[in-house]
Amino acid sequence: MKKFRGVFIKNAREIDLIREANRIVAVILDRLEEAVVPGASTMLFEEIAQAGCAEFGVKPAFQGYQGFPFALCCSVNEQVVHGFPGERILQEGDIVSFDMGVRYQGFNGDSARTIAVGSVSAETQKLLDVTRESLHRGIAQARPSNHLHDISRAVQEYVESNGMSVVRRFVGHGVGRNLHEKPEVPNFVTNDAHPLPLKVGMTLAIEPMVTLGSPDVEVLDDQWTAVTKDRSLSAHFEHTVAITSNGPEILSSASHAPLAAPGKKLAIFGRS
Ligand code: MG
Ligand code: MG
Repeated sequence: MKKFRGVFIKNAREIDLIREANRIVAVILDRLEEAVVPGASTMLFEEIAQAGCAEFGVKPAFQGYQGFPFALCCSVNEQVVHGFPGERILQEGDIVSFDMGVRYQGFNGDSARTIAVGSVSAETQKLLDVTRESLHRGIAQARPSNHLHDISRAVQEYVESNGMSVVRRFVGHGVGRNLHEKPEVPNFVTNDAHPLPLKVGMTLAIEPMVTLGSPDVEVLDDQWTAVTKDRSLSAHFEHTVAITSNGPEILSSASHAPLAAPGKKLAIFGRS
C-alpha cells in the first residue's frame, strides 16, 4: 500500500472494503441506539453488538485488541471511553456512549455515538449537540489542500466557544488494515513544526471526546474505563472518513449500499 509520510494511502478497492466495514458498524450502532431505554442493562448492548457481528460475518475489532474483553465499548455519563458493558442499569437522564469496531475482509470500521437515555437536562442535550456538531465541523475540513491541524482546530474552536473542553489524552487516528494507524488526529491544535497535508486516499477516524468540566481524565482500576477526573459528563462521536478529490466522505453511514461479497456476483433479476 502506498504511503505518504508514514500514512497509508488507500486505493478505490481498499476504500470499498473500509466503507463496507464501517457501514456494518453504522447498522449495528443504529440497532444499539434504538435499544436505549431507561432500565436497560449495558450488557444488552454487548449482546446486540455480538449478534450483529455474527449476522454480518465480521469480527469485533475491539475484542482482544490489547486485551479489551468486549466487542463494544459502552461508557455511561462521566465515563469517556473504553467502558465495559455489564450489570449497570441505565437511568432516565443518563447518557451512554457506544464505540464499535468491526473487521471485514482485513479492513476495520470504527465509529461512535452518545445517546440520551429518555429525557435529559438541557445542559446534557447541549453537550451531545456540541460534540456531534464539532465532529461534523472537523469532517468538513477533511479535504485535500487542507492540513490535519485544520480538522483539529475546527473541533477545538467549536467546543471551546461553547464553554466545553476537549479531552487530550485520547485522539483520533488513521484506520484501514490496522484499527489504529498513522496519523494521530488530535481534537486540539498541537505545536507541530511539520503539519501533515491531507491527501486523497487517507482514511481517518475523527472522534472528539468532550466534557462539561475539565478535560482531565483518569483510568479506573479495571485498566480500561476512562472517566473525567472531576466526574463531569462526557460525550463522544466518531466517524471514519475518506478524503476524496471532492472532499470528505463519511464511510460509517448505514445508508451506503452493501458491498457484494468478494467472489460472489449479485443476482440480477433472479439470475445469478
Ligand atoms: Mg472508536
Ligand atoms: Mg477510533
